[in-house]
Amino acid sequence: MSDTPDSAVRTYIRHHRTAFLDDLAEWLRIPSVSAQPEHDKDVRRSAEWLSAALKETGFPVTEIWETPGAPAVFAEWPSDDPDAPVVLVYGHHDVQPAAREDGWHSDPFEPEVRDGRMYGRGAADDKGQVFFHTLGVRAHLAATGRTAPAVHLKLLVEGEEESGSPHFRELVEQRADRLAADAVIVSDTGMWDEDTPTVCTGMRGLAECEIELHGPAQDIHSGSFGGAVPNPATALARLVAELHDADGRVAVPGFYDGVAELTDTERALFAQLPFDEERWLRTAASQATAGEAGYSTLERLWARPTAEAASAAATRARAARPSSPRPRW
Ligand SMILES: [Zn+2]
Repeated sequence: MSDTPDSAVRTYIRHHRTAFLDDLAEWLRIPSVSAQPEHDKDVRRSAEWLSAALKETGFPVTEIWETPGAPAVFAEWPSDDPDAPVVLVYGHHDVQPAAREDGWHSDPFEPEVRDGRMYGRGAADDKGQVFFHTLGVRAHLAATGRTAPAVHLKLLVEGEEESGSPHFRELVEQRADRLAADAVIVSDTGMWDEDTPTVCTGMRGLAECEIELHGPAQDIHSGSFGGAVPNPATALARLVAELHDADGRVAVPGFYDGVAELTDTERALFAQLPFDEERWLRTAASQATAGEAGYSTLERLWARPTAEAASAAATRARAARPSSPRPRW
């Protein structure tokens, strides 16, 4: 009895699992930390490693695309069906800084498998996701007997995502013709859990601004001046407080313009997920949830934009500590 395509894919992956993980571990050993100039050479080595691995996988086109910063990798594998849709997969090969002192149980750049999971910087963000496509496409070909993928496949893997993608826009604009696609898949997301197939259909973007408030040029006495000159702390508190209304809705005019409302089907699908809010709260080290009235926690997280305030001093202190993650909100 012949395998169904699905089980043939699984069989292929099972048989190639060890070799795949060995190769991934090799890539993870390259500390491609884009935010630290001393790792510039490693980021380049990471791009070269990936380009070679994609060539080995069978991609007929693999290129390293230079930017004023770190290089990106582009690969293309045309389908043998000229009418097949063009699918562009996005990912990144750079990683956040990491050091043992941050709480790692093993060297972040010497991957280790514990309890069936591989621990190493980039394993889950984003080298693991990117590299899995090499196994996926090979499994697809093996399971279907094809010599080229059913879709026209393109891969763009940048090297500056963890530094805020300073040259990515420019790169995409310059290479728009090569990147043209019917669909773009962002392969830089997570999975719900090991047994729930996950398709991420939307992500929140990020726009930030810094507000500087100027008040008296020296520390002044409340008895002599209080109540008669503006107090920057009061002004700042008012500004932050006015970001949201009493229902937790963002009160900035125009803030929700163009925001797609959840459909009933989407809400029902979110609600079906086995979400353990207590457990999730523990990961936030928070005692309570909060947010826009009328939305569940997952809806707030996944489908509603948010406006957050952070002190610039705290943000700078975090940015200055080389091994700390970039603040995301
Ligand atoms: Zn990522």
